[in-house]
Amino acid sequence: MKPKVLVTRKIYERPLQLLREKAEVTLNPEDRSMTPAEIMAALPGKMGVLAMGSDPWTAQLLEAGKDLKIVANNAVGFNNIDLNAATRLKIAATNTPDVLTDTTADLTFALILGVARRIAEADRFVRAGKWTGWTPNLMIGRDVHGKTLGIIGLGRIGSAVARRGQGFNMRVVYYDIRRLDPAVEQQHQLQFMPLRDLLEVSDFVTLHVPLTLETKHLIGAEELGLMKKTAYLINASRGPVVDEQALVEALRSGKIAGAGLDVFEAEPKVTPELLRMENTVLVPHIGSATDETREAMALRAVNNILAVIRGEIPPNILNPEIYQK
Ligand code: NAP
Repeated sequence: MKPKVLVTRKIYERPLQLLREKAEVTLNPEDRSMTPAEIMAALPGKMGVLAMGSDPWTAQLLEAGKDLKIVANNAVGFNNIDLNAATRLKIAATNTPDVLTDTTADLTFALILGVARRIAEADRFVRAGKWTGWTPNLMIGRDVHGKTLGIIGLGRIGSAVARRGQGFNMRVVYYDIRRLDPAVEQQHQLQFMPLRDLLEVSDFVTLHVPLTLETKHLIGAEELGLMKKTAYLINASRGPVVDEQALVEALRSGKIAGAGLDVFEAEPKVTPELLRMENTVLVPHIGSATDETREAMALRAVNNILAVIRGEIPPNILNPEIYQK
């Protein structure tokens, strides 16, 4: 008999087929997230779950999975999983690193260019039939090239954003809990700065930290107050890294010039004031949303489940200590 696996939302056909070859798959038949109650009802007998980053894998839900051996998150971020509970229950938790790095960095750069060059606002202007011809002062934005790009969290995605910034002839500064070796910094032309200094000197501040207890509201009123009036904040990490009310206030009072946001504190809810502001570019958590990448992410999640079925340690294990004797 094949082991049973729950897939909480429809994924690409090829990874689904691969999974079906080795497992009996229960797939959420609807094109919406399963509620925690629905997931709980579906858990009995399941050895694995292919989970979405939006599923809240609380201790209560994990405990309900009496036969669970793996929760394979279809995302690189794993703030939706209570990792301590998973470890205590000896359930492997996995994510999908690397395959979405460049795609998310591309979207980050689209937000940088979009907000600085007023792309969404200009598009709305043309569609509204307001364009009467070329004028010297129409939709004036700010240059991206030649400016200072401040990266907070120089991991996989942050580093990929740094490379894009350098391609745009930007000066790249960064802040991370772990500083690179100075020789590596020099080789890659990256300058480390304490967070406050980075906020003061950057024209674009872009966030690429995971959401943890330490990074929740990493950017609040005080941090926004340190930024230049001409600077932009970009967030394609997780919404709660920014205090959204403080951001609204900073935008309203002109403390910063604008914001490009892929993620929101209580998504899919967006603070209404943000919707009314012209100096924001708002997109619905689409950082990794390309055809190629979404298939690759699902393949990675499936491979993690298949490894557990074979009795191996999954390649993208987040809590390897569960395998220690
Ligand atoms: P990563 O390689 O782990 O990079 C995160 C970096 O942040 C690491 O260098 C990490 O340092 C650093 N960091 C952790 N805590 C910090 C803190 N308190 N202060 C400063 N730096 C800190 O992860 P990634 O693959 O680049 O992904 C980053 C995040 O992007 C994910 O966690 C996810 O939430 C988000 N994301 C969003 C989308 C989207 O659709 N918008 C798509 C993909 C990812 P250490 O390595 O020392 O911990």
